[in-house]
Amino acid sequence: MVVSPETFRKHIQWIGSEYELMGLGEWIERAINKQTLPDKACCITFDDGWQDNYEFAFPILKETETPATIFAVSHMIGTQELFWPNRLARILVHEELKNLRNDDRSWLMGIITFQLGVRPTLDQVSGTIANAKEYDDNRIQDHLNSIEDTLNISHAGNQALADWGQLREMSNSGLVEVGSHTRYHTRILPSLSEEAVSAEILGSKHLLQEQLNRPIRLFCYPNGDVTDFAKRQVEAHYEGAVTTQIGINRSDADVYAIKRMAVHDDISGRRSDLFARLSGWL
Ligand SMILES: [Zn+2]
Repeated sequence: MVVSPETFRKHIQWIGSEYELMGLGEWIERAINKQTLPDKACCITFDDGWQDNYEFAFPILKETETPATIFAVSHMIGTQELFWPNRLARILVHEELKNLRNDDRSWLMGIITFQLGVRPTLDQVSGTIANAKEYDDNRIQDHLNSIEDTLNISHAGNQALADWGQLREMSNSGLVEVGSHTRYHTRILPSLSEEAVSAEILGSKHLLQEQLNRPIRLFCYPNGDVTDFAKRQVEAHYEGAVTTQIGINRSDADVYAIKRMAVHDDISGRRSDLFARLSGWL
C-alpha cells in the first residue's frame, strides 16, 4: 500500500473534516476505560517503519498536528534489509527469471500467477506474494537467498527502514507513537515454537523501550498472522494490537484485534473514493 505525499496531505484534510483524527493509543485507552469517544474517530497507522515515513509523512503530520502510529521492526531498524514480499516482488520483475536452479524454479512455478518470462502486472505480483504465504518464512527466505544468488541481485534494498535517530525524533514530537511489529517481521505461524513467538513479541518491546525511552503499548501482527498463544502474550504485555483484517471498530471492539482499512493511492486519490473506502463500500 503506497500513498504519495500529495495524496496523504489530502487524506488528512478530508478525513479531518469528517472524523476526529486521534492517536490509536489514546483511542484504545479511552475505549478500555469506557471514556467518551468521538462518534467518528480515525487513527492513522504505518507498518514496518520505512524511512519515507520520516521523510514524507512526518513533516505533513507536524504541519497538520496529526497524531499517528508507526509499527517498527525493532531488530531491523536502520538497516537496508528488505522484507520477503519486497524481495520476491523484485525477483518477479527480473528479466532473467528463467535461469533458475531446478528446486527454486519448481517452487516459483507453484506460486506464480503468470507465465515465466513475461513481465507480471502489479496484481500478478500481489497474487504471487499471497500464494507464497502458504510457506513458512524460513522456506521462503532459503529460496529467495538462492534465487538472488543465481540472479546476482544484492540482498540489500534501496528502500531503507528509518533509523533510531529518526524514530526517536518522531516519538519525541509527541505526535507519533511507536509500536512493535516484532523483532524481524516474523510471521506468527502455528509452526513457530512458543519460545520464538515470545522472543518476537517481548524482545521487540524491550529494545524499542530501551532505545526510545518510553513505554511501548501497541503491537501489530506481521501479515496479520496470529495464534492463540501469541494473542495471549500480546494481551499480557501490550495495551492493544492491530490486524490486517479490514473493517471499522466500535467502542466495544476487542482492542487486541483492531481492524484497519488499507489505503492505496489509486483507490483514494479522490475524496469520494476515499470516503467510499472508509465507509466500507469499496
Ligand atoms: Zn509489515
